[in-house]
Amino acid sequence: MPTTKPNPKFAEELSKLNKKLNFMSVINSSANGKSLFSVKDNLCVKGFESRAGSKILSGYIPPFNATAVQRMLDSGYEFVGKTVMDEFGFGSFGTNTDIVAKNPFDETRVAGGSSSGAAVATAVIKNHVAIAESTGGSISNPASFCGVVGFTPTYGTISRYGLIDYANSLDKVGVMGRRAADIRAAFDRIKGADNYDSTCSDSKISSTPTKKLMIIEQLMKGIDSKVLSSFDLLLSKMQGMGYKVEHASLDIIDKAIPAYYIISMAEASTNLAKYDGYKYGEQGKDFTKKYNDFFCDARSSFGIEAKRRIVLGTFVRSASVKDKYYIKALKFRTALTSKLSSILKDSFLISPTMPTVAPKIDEAAGLSLIKAYSMDSLTIPPNLSGLPHISFPCGYANGMPIGAQLISSHFNDYALLDFVESWEKSFKYEFKYNL
Ligand code: GLN
Repeated sequence: MPTTKPNPKFAEELSKLNKKLNFMSVINSSANGKSLFSVKDNLCVKGFESRAGSKILSGYIPPFNATAVQRMLDSGYEFVGKTVMDEFGFGSFGTNTDIVAKNPFDETRVAGGSSSGAAVATAVIKNHVAIAESTGGSISNPASFCGVVGFTPTYGTISRYGLIDYANSLDKVGVMGRRAADIRAAFDRIKGADNYDSTCSDSKISSTPTKKLMIIEQLMKGIDSKVLSSFDLLLSKMQGMGYKVEHASLDIIDKAIPAYYIISMAEASTNLAKYDGYKYGEQGKDFTKKYNDFFCDARSSFGIEAKRRIVLGTFVRSASVKDKYYIKALKFRTALTSKLSSILKDSFLISPTMPTVAPKIDEAAGLSLIKAYSMDSLTIPPNLSGLPHISFPCGYANGMPIGAQLISSHFNDYALLDFVESWEKSFKYEFKYNL
């Protein structure tokens, strides 16, 4: 657990920096800088507004803690604040919401998404870990853009109880930290079976090492040259440490993005159906209205990306086309998982985490939808297959951090943390703020 002496001025200093970088929606004013943890806005914290970055949940103050939050508190960590995010997790840049976090290395750039605030909090607060969540890359992506370590465990190792769902079959609670050891300490306290989440198990988590690093050729297309040179440098250092680098070809991986967006949108549209203004979401006032009008009013506060996903998700699972899209995507997921698992029997998969460094905020806004969704090409495959993965800083280009991503087989999560801990002995991460 990261510890230090208490600092009575901590909350004040944090609020000041937050005005500049917009990474927290709520700050716990009694936090004093000791063994801190922040919580992504889609995980419930008792007594603190938790709205998953959405206006539709404005004012929702949970009367309970998510299991991961409760376990952190029980272990003696102090809650520091809720971190901002793309609405319901829909996005890759942290811009699909009303509070847009800025990158601590360059405030004109995005922090990544959807766990934008969690990555910034980790990059600026020293004695802290962030509890975040990933559906298709929301931990790896912002960790890479903000120069921190982001760990997404095997699906089902950390309880999702108290998580405001995006897509239940893909959502994973995970941890970001400045060092792998800090992540390990938090992971050890929050993992494990939970009576409130039947998909969460006590399966044994192993630490089986391998000296074989596998690169999937198809994933290396379209990567920026600065990212590639940092990645090549990482590979040559690893070879110097006795690792063997090999290449594999996996044609079907090109279909991972469409399959992911079909499955995730289908599940998201189902999850969002409950926000109807009666029980969930902003309470409607005029009960004389017809149901459809009442429903439309309540849902008008969804952002544009949420509306898009409701429409597309409802379409792909509708009776007339579900075999063509949704069922096909599910079959693809099974096939991809088995292919990746057989490669991972005796190797790690390695790649850059993101194809570029963090883009400028206006550049990200100008990207076509297909381009924006394609930014997830490297993070989606492990997420779709429920595989554990970790993103860690492997270089810097023009002052911006670059991340690499390591993937292992199911439940071999500790091997990833071991790998990054040994990397950290020879590579020093850079931080611009040290609150
Ligand atoms: N960018 C991806 C999406 O928009 C992943 C986000 C996430 O993992 N929550 O779905």
